Amino acid sequence: MGQNRRDRSKQSLRWKRQESRYDMDPLPTIDHRKCTGCHLCVDICPTQALAQVAGKAVLAHPERCTYCTVCENVCPEDAIALPFLIVLAPSVVH
Ligand code: SF4
Ligand code: SF4
Repeated sequence: MGQNRRDRSKQSLRWKRQESRYDMDPLPTIDHRKCTGCHLCVDICPTQALAQVAGKAVLAHPERCTYCTVCENVCPEDAIALPFLIVLAPSVVH
């Protein structure tokens, strides 16, 4: 396999891993009707996952998000929600 082909297949594997991560893990959601573009969340995000686009906060780099909840707590408009995935334990049958 040539170097280019090997690089492409590594990249494709990385994308597949990222896709499966998004399938499994919830991510912060931003309600643009509430967002005033104050920039607080963008400034405080420790991993620079957020950015401001056209005056609104967006999750520009979801792969960087560590789900630390800091952005949700700092937002004065309650525009950011971090949904939690509830995993139910399988019922135990005796
Ligand atoms: S949860 Fe944390 S890492 Fe993720 S976008 Fe918000 S502040 Fe950034
Ligand atoms: S902190 Fe809230 S209101 Fe301010 S930019 Fe972020 S989402 Fe928008």
